[in-house]
Amino acid sequence: MAVPREFQSKQRRLIMIVSLSVASLLLLGLTQQPGLPIVPEALTAVKESVQQTFLPKPPRVGLQIGHLNPEEQPDELASLRINTGGYAFGINEVDVNKTTAYMLKDMLEFEGVEVDILPATIPPNYHADLVIALHSDSSPDVTRRGYKSAHFRYPRNKWEDELKADIDKSYFFFSGLPDDDENVSGSMLEYYAFNRARYKHAVSRSTPAIIVEMGYISNEKDRAFLSDPVNPAYALKRGILTYLAERGRYTPKE
Ligand SMILES: [Zn+2]
Repeated sequence: MAVPREFQSKQRRLIMIVSLSVASLLLLGLTQQPGLPIVPEALTAVKESVQQTFLPKPPRVGLQIGHLNPEEQPDELASLRINTGGYAFGINEVDVNKTTAYMLKDMLEFEGVEVDILPATIPPNYHADLVIALHSDSSPDVTRRGYKSAHFRYPRNKWEDELKADIDKSYFFFSGLPDDDENVSGSMLEYYAFNRARYKHAVSRSTPAIIVEMGYISNEKDRAFLSDPVNPAYALKRGILTYLAERGRYTPKE
């Protein structure tokens, strides 16, 4: 069926008006200073999805050392200032998280990936290709062992499921640790550092983020595995690189 010429030109004009409006909205969103109250929620969402679509090179990964410097938490997270992490058999959880994070940073930088080491307090709306929060577990039951991870209770963006799947697969394969998924806790599923709806000091909604519990320092076998930071760092590194490669952000060296 032929469309009248007049209708066609009206349609073209409409398309042009809509595209111009979208473009100016995007521009407005990108040039706004973060935190200004005149930015409507919808514009923030557009800005965040643009941020994740046009990531700069090289890829950037945020590694949070669980429980590092909790006393520096801002007022909105004041209740976490005493959250110093687990302790078992002379080992502080935060030390395991820290040595693993720095080992993983070295490994990723060798692959051309930029790494930010983050303490317990996340810079407001922190943005990167991905964020991993590093924790290790402890339990009065010394037979309890294994690895588990979680993204926010409802994935905050379309990449979090994929990130979790890649990291889990790699960690199980290279660590040989059992699956401790049945002990994923509420504080993992609503991890404060990913709770952008509630806190300013949290990872941006468009940045895929997961928390990992790398094993139990209270369990003899897990403790042996965690005692050399190369072990957990390598298992995580392989998962991170797989994810980045799937997103077209990393090409393996020959
Ligand atoms: Zn922890």
